[in-house]
Amino acid sequence: MSAEPRRDGASFDASRLANPATAALRAYDPGHDLPALRQRFGAAIAELGSNENPLGPSPLALEAMRAALAESWRYPDPRGAALKNALARRLGVGADRIALGNGSHELLMLLAQCFADPAHSIVFSQYGFAVFPIATAAAGAQPIRVPALPRDHASAPFGHDLDALAAAVQGDTRIVYLANPNNPTGTWFDDDALARFLARVPGDVLVVVDEAYHEYVDAPGLGTALRFAERHPNLVVTRTFSKAYALAGLRVGYLVAHASVVAVLERLRESFNVNHVALAGAAAALADGTHLASVRAFNRDERAWLRDGLAARGYAVLPSQTNFLLVDLACDAASFERHLFECGVIVRPMGGYGLGHTVRISIGSRAENQRLLDALP
Ligand SMILES: *Cc1c(COP(=O)(O)O)cnc(C)c1O
Repeated sequence: MSAEPRRDGASFDASRLANPATAALRAYDPGHDLPALRQRFGAAIAELGSNENPLGPSPLALEAMRAALAESWRYPDPRGAALKNALARRLGVGADRIALGNGSHELLMLLAQCFADPAHSIVFSQYGFAVFPIATAAAGAQPIRVPALPRDHASAPFGHDLDALAAAVQGDTRIVYLANPNNPTGTWFDDDALARFLARVPGDVLVVVDEAYHEYVDAPGLGTALRFAERHPNLVVTRTFSKAYALAGLRVGYLVAHASVVAVLERLRESFNVNHVALAGAAAALADGTHLASVRAFNRDERAWLRDGLAARGYAVLPSQTNFLLVDLACDAASFERHLFECGVIVRPMGGYGLGHTVRISIGSRAENQRLLDALP
């Protein structure tokens, strides 16, 4: 018999035990309970809150995933060799320069865990992607949050201020996270601006460029950070199969970096982080250039149509190179969002980013976009 007193679940509070950086975080806010809403409303909702691709994945990817299901009793290939080799051929780099992740989210976290600790700082922009501060906290590193460009900036309102970001780098900085284009602003910087930025940042600071929306990009002067990979071995580029490839539910992302960066990440990466079905689906999706081309064309046209429709109704829409639009309401967005919700149109309020006067609207199907326009207050 143990002499220990009986412990009381009601008085136990593990939040006191969390490390300080984790204690300061809040859990991911998923917005509405979408599975519950789908059950309640069926097809009568327009889901424009999560930047998902309304065209869905390549039929070839679906076929490959169905075939892969039968092999699910096996562990996946821990090296993900087939997908890595396909990416390497596509990108013209060695396979030893590619790491695969359970979504690019995992890779963004892993970079901070492997390269930063409480003695280091990590630099990112005020309205940069939400994972950047979380990755920083998970590593216990010190965040340096750099003020964004102003609302009235000509090309990138609320976007990354590259001059200020470069100036913010300290002697103890290990990582700068950039998203290009950025979520939630949709804004971007061009390749020349990135080249100037890279020239200013010391070579032992990892510059991580998150290109989750790369496949949607068509602005002149905006290509990819990979152009600079040879000259800047400290450059890391992350991409995902969640957006243009429409495999968000599978969780596959990748990064391209110097082989020595990849080798460090491999020490901490969970061996089977990308599952078997996901590996098969991503490789098949990558091979289907026709489907990707139709996704790009659809998004380009529909984004312009929705932007024009919103502008014609008097809404201020930020420039976007992504599959979403950020609408600046210039007042608290809560009642706007609630009104649309009551009409069955789900958009994403941005209060969590400190952009409570904006909502983020994903480009949906034409029918969904039309429903949004019809439902506007
Ligand atoms: C959606 C998104 C990602 C993708 O995350 P996954 O984990 O690959 O699904 C990464 N970065 C940004 C900026 C995004 O918006």
